Amino acid sequence: MVYDPDNVFAKIIRKEIPCDVVYEDEHLLAFNDIQKAAPIHILLIPKGSFTSFDDFATKATTGEISHFFKTAQIIAHQHGLSETGYRLVTNCGPHALQTVPHFHLHILGQSTLGAFAAAAMENIHVA
Ligand code: AMP
Repeated sequence: MVYDPDNVFAKIIRKEIPCDVVYEDEHLLAFNDIQKAAPIHILLIPKGSFTSFDDFATKATTGEISHFFKTAQIIAHQHGLSETGYRLVTNCGPHALQTVPHFHLHILGQSTLGAFAAAAMENIHVA
């Protein structure tokens, strides 16, 4: 998939669209999801042009990948989720219903979440 520089997260990185920033550094940006699926629902994205997790895992350096996931943990801890737990989700491609073609990690927590495996199976039956 060719990277679309006009996708909504690319516009957020360029500050053309506002977002509720949770964390930012030279390489990464994290912000609150506009449609929360849990009391805490943060999206973590790299600032580089990666279309999906698969693209990121293929093209990013080991250092970039490591920094990305370490930052996800730090954000989760800063939001008090280390004791109660949290869920990390990345939808990759059409079968996973990825809607924004810029790699992003959902960080979800602060309440008991639905059973993921059961929900995923339900989706398979519905499809
Ligand atoms: P996915 O379906 O995994 O591609 O997730 C895309 C996520 O981006 C959804 O949870 C949307 O609610 C969220 N989203 C889309 N536009 C914005 C925006 N402008 N600000 C914050 N979150 C957004």
